[in-house]
Amino acid sequence: MEAEKSIPHVVLIDGYIDDPAALGVPPYISPMIRAVAGAAVDAGGRVTYLSIDMLRQGHEIPDADVTVLLSGNTVPGKYLRSMPMSLKEIREYLPKMKGWKLIGGSSAYAPEAEGFDFRIHRDLAASLYDGMTGKEVGERFRTLDEWNRWMLLGADIVKEHQDFPQPLMVEIESYRGCHRYASGGCSFCIEPTKGKPLMRQPEDILAEAKKLRALGVCNIRVGGQTCIISYGSEDFSSGVPRPVPSKVRQLFEGLKALGFEHISVDNANPAVIATYPEESS
Ligand code: SF4
Repeated sequence: MEAEKSIPHVVLIDGYIDDPAALGVPPYISPMIRAVAGAAVDAGGRVTYLSIDMLRQGHEIPDADVTVLLSGNTVPGKYLRSMPMSLKEIREYLPKMKGWKLIGGSSAYAPEAEGFDFRIHRDLAASLYDGMTGKEVGERFRTLDEWNRWMLLGADIVKEHQDFPQPLMVEIESYRGCHRYASGGCSFCIEPTKGKPLMRQPEDILAEAKKLRALGVCNIRVGGQTCIISYGSEDFSSGVPRPVPSKVRQLFEGLKALGFEHISVDNANPAVIATYPEESS
């Protein structure tokens, strides 16, 4: 008889992120932490989700084979409900984390992250998946197939968030990168470093949204992209793409049909609206 294979326990600590194209500070939950959960499940793990607010309230960090921290705010805002994990808190909680340890988000660049086994700058979900499946823990972006699969597999953690079901706002990503990537984009922004924009198809985003709705999610924001007007546009001839209104319409009509209480959007490039006013309206 074969020995029973143990299931690795992965503890995810959500220290919250606030990036140019993704928000995960409560009441928001970021797409990255859900992708990380999905990657862990896809690699055969079981996941425990803890937010920094749960730790602040006295939750212990459990035993784990892997502990993953997501933390950092590259575009700090004014937060009304909770604060992102501070560097002081990273120093405080790091000795309590078990197993091998990864950190992602902009805090991975901080000196306080030096005690982690891996400091991931590109895609925490992809690096975790590689480490759990016996590959080298390097820097790469997830493929489109992985992306869509992980958003479904990681959806369940929304129920563990302290703001579920209300007022939780689940941030959804439609694509990554910026159409201005070829020129290097704006000097302060990390999005052009992600290369040529990679679009998710409406049906894949809608499958994710349908699962979230079935779990009891009431509110979503399609905020995980650099310009929602440019969603679906494969026009890479300039940094100002011609919009494809039919794709945007397909996405939002599909989301509306799922019966969420609130659907909002974020991020639109004014240059696209000014150049293509008809397609943008
Ligand atoms: S236009 Fe592109 S490079 Fe400039 S801020 Fe927006 S996403 Fe970043």
